[in-house]
Order: sequence, then C-alpha cells, then structure tokens
Amino acid sequence: MNSRQIHGVRNVIASGRVLTDEADRYSYAYDGSFGTYLPDIVVQTNKVDEILDLMKFANEELIPVYPRGQSTSLSGGPLPVYGGIVLDMSVMNDVLEIDDQNLIAVVSPGVLTADIHKAAEQKGLFYPPDPSSSHVSTIGGNLAENSGGPRGLKYGVTKDYVIGLEVITPQGELIRTGGATVKNVTGYDLTKLIVGSEGTLGIITKAILRLIPKPAATKTAMAIFDSLVDAGTAISKILSSGILPSKLELMDQASMVAVENYEPCNLPIDAAAMILIELDGHPMAVEDELIKVRHLCDRVGAVEVRIPANPAEEVELWKARKLVSPAIVRIKPTKISEDATVPRSKIPEMCQRLQEIKQKYNLHLVVFGHAGDGNLHPNIVADKSDKEEMRRVEQAVSEIFEAAIALGGTLSGEHGIGLMKAPFMEMELGAIGVQMMKRIKQSWDPNNILNPGKIFPEPGQRLVLTE
Ligand SMILES: Cc1cc2nc3c(=O)[nH]c(=O)nc-3n(C[C@H](O)[C@H](O)[C@H](O)COP(=O)(O)OP(=O)(O)OC[C@H]3O[C@@H](n4cnc5c(N)ncnc54)[C@H](O)[C@@H]3O)c2cc1C
Repeated sequence: MNSRQIHGVRNVIASGRVLTDEADRYSYAYDGSFGTYLPDIVVQTNKVDEILDLMKFANEELIPVYPRGQSTSLSGGPLPVYGGIVLDMSVMNDVLEIDDQNLIAVVSPGVLTADIHKAAEQKGLFYPPDPSSSHVSTIGGNLAENSGGPRGLKYGVTKDYVIGLEVITPQGELIRTGGATVKNVTGYDLTKLIVGSEGTLGIITKAILRLIPKPAATKTAMAIFDSLVDAGTAISKILSSGILPSKLELMDQASMVAVENYEPCNLPIDAAAMILIELDGHPMAVEDELIKVRHLCDRVGAVEVRIPANPAEEVELWKARKLVSPAIVRIKPTKISEDATVPRSKIPEMCQRLQEIKQKYNLHLVVFGHAGDGNLHPNIVADKSDKEEMRRVEQAVSEIFEAAIALGGTLSGEHGIGLMKAPFMEMELGAIGVQMMKRIKQSWDPNNILNPGKIFPEPGQRLVLTE
C-alpha cells in the first residue's frame, strides 16, 4: 500500500486504531498453521460504520482485506498472503446477551467462545459447539471456519446453532441474514453460506445463536487399548450400539507420552491408545449407558476401562485431551495439524493407513482427535529448518488426504481449507464443483478483495512447507 492509501484508511478509521509499525504488523503475520506474511497495515475498530467505509475504500482501491479473530486457525485462514489490510475483529467484543425466554444468544464477533459457554450455563442453558481452542478463539472465527470440537458427534457443529447474522459485504454494504426464530425458510439460506466461508464472502459483525437446555448429568469413561486399530474398532462398536456419546475422543501413545512429559496427568503411557467417552443426559440413562460402554470396550479387548471416581478426576482427564496440541510442539517446533475426516465405519482403516504413512516417511506422526465423528487429527511434528524432513512431510500430508478421500471422507472436518489445503480442493470436489464455488465468490466479491488466496488454488499451486 502507498502512503496515500494508508492516509485514506486513517481518514476512515476515526475511532479505531491503524497500526503501521513493523513490530505491530509482525504480530499479525502468522496464525496457528504455517508461514509468515506481513500485512501493510492492521486496523482495529469496533464500529460497524467504520468497517463499512473501510470496505468501500478498499474495494475502490483494490486493497485486500483479511478479517482476523484470534488467529488460532490451523489452515492459514487469516494470513495476509498478498499484503494489504488485516482487520482485527477481536476488538469487537461488546455484545454478549443471553435471552433465556427465546433460548438465543446475541453476540459480537470478537467474544471468546468460552465466555458464551459460561454465560449460557449461568442461565441453565448450553451452547454446544466447543472447539478445543474455545478459551482463546473468537465466535467470529468459529463462525467463519464452521468450527467443530468434541461435541460435534452428538450436537453438531457451529453451523447447527447459527440462526441469524449481520454481515458487511466486500463492497461495503450491511446485510442481515436469518433472524431470531428457530425456523426461517425465506429465500436462499445465506446464513449457512456465510458460516464456513472462511472470511471470503463477508465480515460478520453480529450473530444470533441458538441455545439448548443444559444436560442434567455427564459421566466419563476412559478405555485403554494395546493397539490403535482396536481403539478404532471400539469407537465403531460404541457408535453402532445405539448409544450416542456427547464426546468420543482418541489419543494414541505418542500423544499420551507428549502430555505426560508436558504436564503429568496419570495417562497410561505404556498403552498404544486410549479413548475418552463422555455420556450426557438424564442421570439414570447415563449410568445405564456407562455400563454398556464398559462391556463393549471389554469385548473389543480393552486392557482396562477406568471410570473417574469424582468430577475433579473427570475434569483432569479432559484437561489431558486439551493439552495434546500444546504438548506435542515440545517434541519438535513445527506442527502440521490435519483434520482429514472419514465415515465412522472407516475409522479403523484410517488408523491403519496413518500408521503406514508414518512408517513410510519416517515421521513423528501423532494421532488424536474427535474420532467419534470420524474427525481424526493426524499431527506431524517436524523441524521447519530441516528442508529434507519438510519435503517428506509434504508427501505424507498429500497421502493423508488421498487416504481420507479414497475412504469416502473429506479434506477437512473442521479446520477449513484456508491456504494450506487449497491445492487439494479438486481432489475432493472435482473441477466443476470448485468452479461452482468460485462463481459464488465472484458474484459476492467481484474484485477479490476479501481474504484472497484462500480456499481456491492459484494455477499450479501446491503444498509448500519450506519458507
Ligand atoms: C490448540 C488448538 C485447538 C483447536 N481445536 C479446534 C477444534 O477442536 N475444532 C475446530 O474446529 N478448530 C479448532 N482449532 C482451530 C481454530 O481455533 C478455529 O478455526 C477457530 O474457529 C479460529 O478462531 P479465531 O478467532 O482464532 O479466528 P482466526 O484464526 O483469526 O480466523 C479464522 C478464519 O475466520 C475468519 N474470520 C475471523 N473473524 C471473522 C469475522 N468476524 N468475519 C468474517 N471472517 C472472520 C478469518 O478471515 C479466517 O479465515 C484449534 C486451534 C488450536 C490452535
């Protein structure tokens, strides 16, 4: 951007801040994935009018704008790949209203997801989507990525709880989609189109979320296995038994060892894998289902099934699961976090394929994730300064995607496509499928102003993990 354009942005952003110092801009140059891209400027404002004017100006001047929440994206979503303006939406966090008459929450995009959980629970209500990053990620980022989390298995993901949005278009107009009613079938469902559009179609400035009553009781079981494939089989058996757990998570040996080295949680590190099962609902139903789950795991050959003796032990177990991500980066500094997802019946086969890929490329591949909905998180930990290792990582990542798609699955269960997975889009959707999506993007954003370089691959673009 030139100095006239920066001056133009300063004119528009009267109450907010425009950051141009290199040190400030560097704080906005990365996310939770890979690569560093320096924006020309960073804008912080919580005024809708200022964002409207900013978008009009950017559209006239053809300056890219990248909305950003807390930058925990694991797919490169908020990265300013072509320079331009990073729009920090985390400062727009002034509205968090819980309406317990209508069972809805009205929120600003910069509110942290965990704060919505707390506010809903104080009124006996429940906002189910719970990405593992909920204490640091914004609801705006969750909406844009259509985030999931462990409860996706029983309760669905972010899109299932959004009924209305306020959105600024790439050309600087304000629209409202959906509303405050649970049912709404007026016209095309633009709410669902914006959710999961990864900040490429509009800037979300307010959302209306559906809440449900908080389940009366929860119980957790931990089942330990001496083979990853047996753990996968136990997951399939539980899911086909008529029981629908609220969470069903997998941790392999490498992830348990990493957590124990990071913060000891008494995990069974000699075992090959463990699954964590949470049941919720009426207290008597939960007790009954817990007995059935224990029997099912025993029958598949679990080494042991542990039931936490009290709520504190239960909290400790779930904390261990949340610690996997921070723990594995202790092993090596670069983490490539995937979320290839397969139909649930294919979980054991996918576990097998991941073990083969790990051996073939001799990589530190850790498997954990929301296995109950088929959403595994194969994470590769490597060292980005080792170019030869990173090339093996690139090949392994491609093979992980190929395996998921060959098994009838998808490139992304929850982290989005962003920059990292754009080169693989045609593999899943075919050329025409990608074209249809591109046409939608072109009609919303003819000048390709909003978050360019994401979702759609540039000609010849491939996954590159060396900087
Ligand atoms: C440790 C860890 C655990 C995680 N666990 C999960 C998990 O369990 N499930 C899951 O789904 N994800 C998970 N994630 C990924 C990430 O947290 C989510 O994608 C999250 O929704 C991103 O929120 P954010 O506020 O950090 O957004 P950012 O990363 O800043 O942005 C994400 C995308 O949203 C767009 N965006 C942000 N705000 C707006 C807005 N107001 N309007 C329009 N577009 C906007 C950005 O342009 C970008 O494309 C995890 C990440 C980490 C680091």
